[in-house]
Amino acid sequence: MAVDYNAFITEETIEGDDEGPLAGTTVAVKDNISTAGVRTTCGSEMLADYVPPYSATVVERLTDAGATVVGKTNMDEFGMGTTTETSAFGPTRNPVDPERVPGGSSGGSAAAVAAGEADVALGSDTGGSVRCPAAFCGVVGIKPTYGLVSRYGLVAYANSLEQIGPIAGTVEAAAEALDVIAGPDPNDGTTRDPRAVDGVDVGVPEGGYAAAADGDVDGMTVGVPTELFDGADERVVGTVEAAIADLEARGAETAEISLPSVEHAVQAYYVIATSEASSNLARFDGVRYGHRADSDGNWNESFAETREAFGPEVKRRILLGTYALSAGYHDKYYRKAQDAREWVRRDFEDAFADVDVIASPTMPVLPFELGESLDDPLRMYLADANTTPVNLANLPAISVPAGEADGLPVGLQLVGPKFDEAAVIRTASAVEGR
Ligand code: GLN
Repeated sequence: MAVDYNAFITEETIEGDDEGPLAGTTVAVKDNISTAGVRTTCGSEMLADYVPPYSATVVERLTDAGATVVGKTNMDEFGMGTTTETSAFGPTRNPVDPERVPGGSSGGSAAAVAAGEADVALGSDTGGSVRCPAAFCGVVGIKPTYGLVSRYGLVAYANSLEQIGPIAGTVEAAAEALDVIAGPDPNDGTTRDPRAVDGVDVGVPEGGYAAAADGDVDGMTVGVPTELFDGADERVVGTVEAAIADLEARGAETAEISLPSVEHAVQAYYVIATSEASSNLARFDGVRYGHRADSDGNWNESFAETREAFGPEVKRRILLGTYALSAGYHDKYYRKAQDAREWVRRDFEDAFADVDVIASPTMPVLPFELGESLDDPLRMYLADANTTPVNLANLPAISVPAGEADGLPVGLQLVGPKFDEAAVIRTASAVEGR
């Protein structure tokens, strides 16, 4: 019998148009992306029965382009996690090794692609949630520049950090999906047309992002930041270094670089993400959406009981974020985290004066065994060391399979300058061609 990886929370079909660049393609959609008429749970008991009245812009663009949605994928509750184990619908298993996690929070999306249950999937990446599961499942995941892809219809976790991104078996297939979902949306005022952004001389290549997947890295400079290799599992480092050596063999130059601020990225990320989450999740009060506790008490009691439907990780983050934003501590935590965010942004900007892309391991570790990290939230947070700096700096990044270590997939992360998704797609296609 085939293994059930529990990649989907809901298996329902939304037919796409007959024609279009994605005609005949199946797509799995993370369950925090709204689908009209198909329940959208965010992996939470809170929204177990919530059926959105409209679809996210990205879903409309995919079905207009001919793709058929095959279901809604499992995820860490509200995107909060790195393993897909905080889902109220049980963990997803990694198709490469079913005793291990698929990564998170878009673990169901990556597992669906890795298991051949969908051609393409959508995830959302607030601090690594597209790239981490892509790395752990041995597939490709793109986190677009902030503002390239509409967030309209994405249930917010931390608005200033997150982007929806595609996951697929190849760089080209992921880039084709990005071509369809990218571009300004009147329903999301933070979206930009890359061709019209001041100070950006890159943008969309002729023939779209997919055309950039040509494997041609001759003459490119790849920055290798020591800070994103320090402390990583040596099996991961060995595999990633071998992939970078192959890029050199194909004509790329490498340059050692330093990003001193990134040692503070995880701390800054968790302060900012939990602060935004504590505010965003206030809407789940039993009045407007989803679950409502059966309470005949006053409003405060009813509110408190309703919010029992959140799992422990979500509660922890609401408490952390509320604390960080509270009057007495705002300057001590939130302001400091914003300063660190700006420092990270500048470090990347300085680095891109000398290099075209920056390469590192996507995850500093191999996929965890199921249950291994659940009791140790700090250990789980630290696994985001290499992915969170990219969200803090609003940059584009990709995770591409670099090879295997002990039979487990290792992902290589490539980060590019703002709106230069073409550079990371091009370099990743060379890694994939090894
Ligand atoms: N692991 C990170 C977190 O738990 C990233 C999550 C995400 O990108 N949605 O916040």
